[in-house]
Amino acid sequence: MANIGAVTRQIAALEISSKQNTSTKSTRSGTSHQKTSSQTSVSKLVTKFASSTSLQSTSSSSSLKSLHKKGTASASSVSKLPTSSKPALTPAHSKTSSQSSQVRPEIDIGNYDGGFEIENEKRGEAVTGEAAEELALDSSVSRTRPTREWHLYDFDIGRPLGKGKFGRVYMVRTKCEPQYILALKCLYKSEIVQSRVEKQIRREIEIQQNLRHPHVLRLYGYFHDEKRIFLMLEFAGKGELYKQLSKHGSFSERRSAVYIDQMADALGYLHSKHVIHRDIKPENLLLGINGELKIGDFGWSVHAPGNRRTTLCGTLDYLPPEMVEGRDHSEKVDYWALGVLTYEFICGAPPFEDLSGYNATYKRIAKVDLKIPAKVSAEAKDLIMKLLQYDPEKRLPLSDVRKHPWVVRHRVKGPSVSGAS
Ligand code: ATP
Ligand code: MG
Repeated sequence: MANIGAVTRQIAALEISSKQNTSTKSTRSGTSHQKTSSQTSVSKLVTKFASSTSLQSTSSSSSLKSLHKKGTASASSVSKLPTSSKPALTPAHSKTSSQSSQVRPEIDIGNYDGGFEIENEKRGEAVTGEAAEELALDSSVSRTRPTREWHLYDFDIGRPLGKGKFGRVYMVRTKCEPQYILALKCLYKSEIVQSRVEKQIRREIEIQQNLRHPHVLRLYGYFHDEKRIFLMLEFAGKGELYKQLSKHGSFSERRSAVYIDQMADALGYLHSKHVIHRDIKPENLLLGINGELKIGDFGWSVHAPGNRRTTLCGTLDYLPPEMVEGRDHSEKVDYWALGVLTYEFICGAPPFEDLSGYNATYKRIAKVDLKIPAKVSAEAKDLIMKLLQYDPEKRLPLSDVRKHPWVVRHRVKGPSVSGAS
């Protein structure tokens, strides 16, 4: 069965130019995030040459098998930290084969700017006491499923993919065979403690580590040092969906329907695992190498408990009436968010957005003050209205979303990229 190693070999024959990174600022509901765009050239080529079967296997439980063998890396060799990635070396005409014993060319992961080390000098402090124990996160010491030990020097580090609140994200490749391509995300422990989100981060990691679905970003493993936690994430070759939405303003109904189908598939899977996402919005969605959607952020997720939760969380525009009104909520909050997402994809803005302020938005949500523009097709309108129901029990179930005529009509023919439906 093909795995990410095979994908790497397939695309290794390509010479992928590494573009200089450009920074763009995306603004939403008054908050602005500094984002770094860096994936374009890689993703174009990766997308072109990687088959969906190979891609599926990157999300399957059998992939990355070798990452779970006990490693031998020693904790003391910090001086071995790489300061630059291997150079781009692949001639475009190179022939590769998964059986080949010849020297294999490598995929270009771009140029490392030394950001992890530069930042580590200036940022964060060592964390001690109870918080340190809470944040001593290491997938190799899991009692149930111990894996190999990982350290920063086990990776060739490439181009920066972006900056998050708690640290940077880089494209990396494992030095050990078969040289997997990953996104390595760094989080500063002291900043997590300052923001008092130790438990939330721990929960996010624990949840994501146990999920295996083609439309849910895989977390392959994690490790930590004195100041930082590192997450080994599936590389989302086409970057952020939000950036695409900002670029195009809105999506065609066809593109929107394909994403909504994939979202319904992923949410159905999460709910079957008793995970409620609670923070569905374009900013939390990434795109894989074939342009397929990946839910990438589990910051607000909860393992659905027996009794319903009343915590107020999530982004204003995507909150359902029951959360706005401080009532109990269930996994049906994600059904509502799917309706908001459908609307935003097609119309370019969320349905209850009110620029006069938070209170006005709250009121519009509580009244389900919904106006659907005339350009929206009758079928899309029907789906949006069936999801944006005040009463959570009346919202269209996810399995019915996938059977809805609007979704079915636009579903890509041939083998599904999802495979888990
Ligand atoms: P927050 O810290 O609030 O989660 P964020 O979601 O913007 O903010 P990160 O999740 O740390 O921050 O990611 C920063 C950026 O790095 C993302 O916006 C995205 O562009 C890029 N990125 C993150 N994870 C991946 C990944 N697995 N594959 C490709 N790019 C990624
Ligand atoms: Mg994030």
